Amino acid sequence: MVEVGILGFQGSVEEHERIFQRLGVKTRRIRYARDLEGVNAIVFPGGESTTIGIFLQNGDLVQPLREALIQGMPALATCAGTILLAQEIEGKHFTSLGVLPIRVRRNAYGRQRESFVAPLTLAFDPSRPFPGVFIRAPRIETAGPEVYFLSSFDGQPVMVQYGAILGCTFHPELTEDTRVHEYFLGVVSSRKPRV
Ligand code: GLN
Repeated sequence: MVEVGILGFQGSVEEHERIFQRLGVKTRRIRYARDLEGVNAIVFPGGESTTIGIFLQNGDLVQPLREALIQGMPALATCAGTILLAQEIEGKHFTSLGVLPIRVRRNAYGRQRESFVAPLTLAFDPSRPFPGVFIRAPRIETAGPEVYFLSSFDGQPVMVQYGAILGCTFHPELTEDTRVHEYFLGVVSSRKPRV
């Protein structure tokens, strides 16, 4: 049975847990490296990337997480989580994992649009729009050649896939629509269990 680890420091942890619960999937909060043992996938919730970066350092999680992701551990990152995974962060001054070949700009949507909801088209299910909740969202400015765009808004990608890593700049965990999480579980089940 699949068990999804969710970084349990700060941000929308419970919201992700609730969605996986609805989908009948077990979750575990990750705070220390030892918590990673046996999980099949990991979620990097939104919140404040600088703060989460400090917790990653304190929990000695930076290296173990980086290694797991490089070895193919599936990951779903939302908003601040995507910032933490990015290879390049404009004006970076905090810990990140640097495993997702994108360049992001934090808080890139101007004041008036700091937070907004936009209907998104998901490449894997264009049948109806997905409510994209953006909260002080980063913008993905450039992406490497192996990064697939699963959804775009305003001419920029807002959901990308690189191998088994999914990065969203919006918050799929803050809606009732579970399609992003279901797509992620599809990626997880197409991989072999890790342990
Ligand atoms: N602005 C936050 C940051 O830079 C991200 C916001 C979010 O996760 N909703 O970390």
